[in-house]
Amino acid sequence: MTTDHVLEVRNLSVRYGPALALHDVSFDVRAGSVTAVLGTNGAGKTTLARALCGLVRPSAGSILFDGTDLVGRRADQIARAGLMYLPEGRGIFPGLSVGDNLRMATVSHPREQRSENIDRAVEYFPVLAERLGQRAGTLSGGEQQMLSLARALALRPPLVIADEMSLGLAPKMVDMVFEGLAAAAAAGTSILMIEQFVHRSLAMADSALVIRRGGLAWQGPADGAAEAVEEHYVPSGRT
Ligand code: ATP
Repeated sequence: MTTDHVLEVRNLSVRYGPALALHDVSFDVRAGSVTAVLGTNGAGKTTLARALCGLVRPSAGSILFDGTDLVGRRADQIARAGLMYLPEGRGIFPGLSVGDNLRMATVSHPREQRSENIDRAVEYFPVLAERLGQRAGTLSGGEQQMLSLARALALRPPLVIADEMSLGLAPKMVDMVFEGLAAAAAAGTSILMIEQFVHRSLAMADSALVIRRGGLAWQGPADGAAEAVEEHYVPSGRT
């Protein structure tokens, strides 16, 4: 294990019954880096995310996270170890205030670190600072998405998988989600970003993976991904 890799994935395959949804995928994630995971609908991006975080069991391969193989561990153990999956959908408590939602996220933290971690999460998404006393259920969809991200990032996880965080959001909200994720990455959280906005995610990413029909079609530095995206990814018109 190279010390600057938070994640090392080797020969990962996933089957859904007889169908091979992911085959022989290998890649590394450097600590503190942003990796864009690209591919058309049905390519296998979400399957990869679900395998990494223990929601689906790989049929072959290994997933070394901070030196420990995650294959066979339960999703809750993996999340507690610090690999957090943020699927579309929010998982917030609508009846509680924004502030209480954040406080609940950090309840397992040492008391003296809680407010610092909450403050940092609010810094990532400044719009939440103005809403701390407001009931979470009355936030706009985009604000709820940011609260959900802030709750996860307040835990200072080493690795976050952000799956389609911008789906269905207004452009201004999409900007804020990207800015918050960039701030979290700058503070040391590695991010695997599955995004419909290919060019935006490449602009923010250090490296990129292009998945095609369940296999890794290309991997390399994000600033060299344009050609691979042309070749392997049919753009849907969104940038
Ligand atoms: P999208 O952007 O549409 O979410 P994706 O790249 O995330 O696409 P996956 O959702 O990982 O793709 O799907 C990969 C393949 O596995 C697809 O052919 C899909 O139909 C299939 N698949 C996904 N989930 C299941 C499941 N629970 N059972 C059977 N097949 C599945």
